[in-house]
Amino acid sequence: MKTFVRCGQLFTGREDEALKHAALVYDEAGRLIYAGGEKGAPKRRDSDRVIDHSGHFVMPGLIDVHTHLAYGNAKTEEDIDLYSPLEFRALRGMFFAQKVAAGGYTAICSPGDAGQISLSIRNAIDAGLFDGPRVMAAGPYITTHQGLTDWYPTWIGAPETSIGKLVTCLDEAIQEIRRQVKNGVDCIKIAMDGIQRRPDGELIAAFTQEECDAMVRETHRMGKKSVTHAVGREATLYSARAGVDLIFHGFHLDDECIAAMKKSGSMLGPTLTQPKNVIEFTQPYEPAGQKGRIEATVARYKLGCANLKKAKKAGIPFLTGTDSGFAVTPYGEWHARELELFVDDLGFSKAGALRAATETNARFMSQGDEIGVLEEGRFADVIAWDGSPLADIAILQDKSRLRGVYKAGRELKIADRPYDPRKVTDFSLSNWTDLYTQARVAELRGTRQLPEAAE
Ligand SMILES: [Zn+2]
Repeated sequence: MKTFVRCGQLFTGREDEALKHAALVYDEAGRLIYAGGEKGAPKRRDSDRVIDHSGHFVMPGLIDVHTHLAYGNAKTEEDIDLYSPLEFRALRGMFFAQKVAAGGYTAICSPGDAGQISLSIRNAIDAGLFDGPRVMAAGPYITTHQGLTDWYPTWIGAPETSIGKLVTCLDEAIQEIRRQVKNGVDCIKIAMDGIQRRPDGELIAAFTQEECDAMVRETHRMGKKSVTHAVGREATLYSARAGVDLIFHGFHLDDECIAAMKKSGSMLGPTLTQPKNVIEFTQPYEPAGQKGRIEATVARYKLGCANLKKAKKAGIPFLTGTDSGFAVTPYGEWHARELELFVDDLGFSKAGALRAATETNARFMSQGDEIGVLEEGRFADVIAWDGSPLADIAILQDKSRLRGVYKAGRELKIADRPYDPRKVTDFSLSNWTDLYTQARVAELRGTRQLPEAAE
């Protein structure tokens, strides 16, 4: 039995235009036999199945290369690392992976997670225990005292349940890579920088060039992909020279970084949604608002976009990802915002953004040559929309217009189950964000934000 999908418009991911009056045909394994005009489609038999999306825009399932399944919509670093057991985080991650799929994302990469959460979610989905997206899994970030995820004081270090594995020499880093590969990760995440700066303001790379080279070499020797968190120029440059497959952020990249990326073939995942959401959603009363995070992020975002445009002009492949898993980037909500930001802030065409989120993203993914494009031989990972994202890219954020999500030709029907956010994260012991001096209390009473003192 074959399945025929009638498509009002078909965007294959290969071209910039959508084909009108088109069809997809796939076999029982969910592999495409045909993608093209309805007229040229193979003959349909009575026993074949027909799915009618003749009023819809049909395209490859979206891919998000930056969704952290272990974070749980965390409000603090402590929430990411400490409070809930890994077992609870895995169950929670499974639930949220489904939320992501329900938004039209049929594949994600989870680049950096505690324990073996992402790979367990991947395995459970692959075994057919749950419906969900394809998952490309990493283990904990490999980091040093200068890298992201080593956020606690040295006398605490990075606990076992942390998303970071703190290494103190190259040998330890190599052993950790071998351990993670044995456990079954698809990629190795390196924290190439964090938040520490030199007096001149430059972000310090967490590893030397030689250390980065050796880690990436070992990762590739095992047949795995390497990804780095690299915001600063130095971390981006070291990553590019080492041939890291996917560099996240790269906000401070310069011409030297671009030249190195061109030479090694490194791709770039800027992850604009997270900082954009920080800027637009953070309230002034929140700790991030009070600590100047909004202003700092505005400056970084502006500079980042200017630099990233140079890399785009130079032909570096751009991938879409959102850093979902934080309270400002909850799962299933903002994944497609990245495409809108690619258009608005990086100068992508709408078709270019769509192709980034499908065909280009697939180049990085484990099953890269089997997904991301609707063409013969690949899997029918397909989504259908009421309306064309080529006319309005923002409709991809409107789940009420999503008319179908198929993974390998099988429809994913995931109930939109509500949940209690207070019971899935936010276990930090933080209680107050203000300082209640007599003057502050008098001020709040004056503006009626506090009741008058009792008689
Ligand atoms: Zn991230």
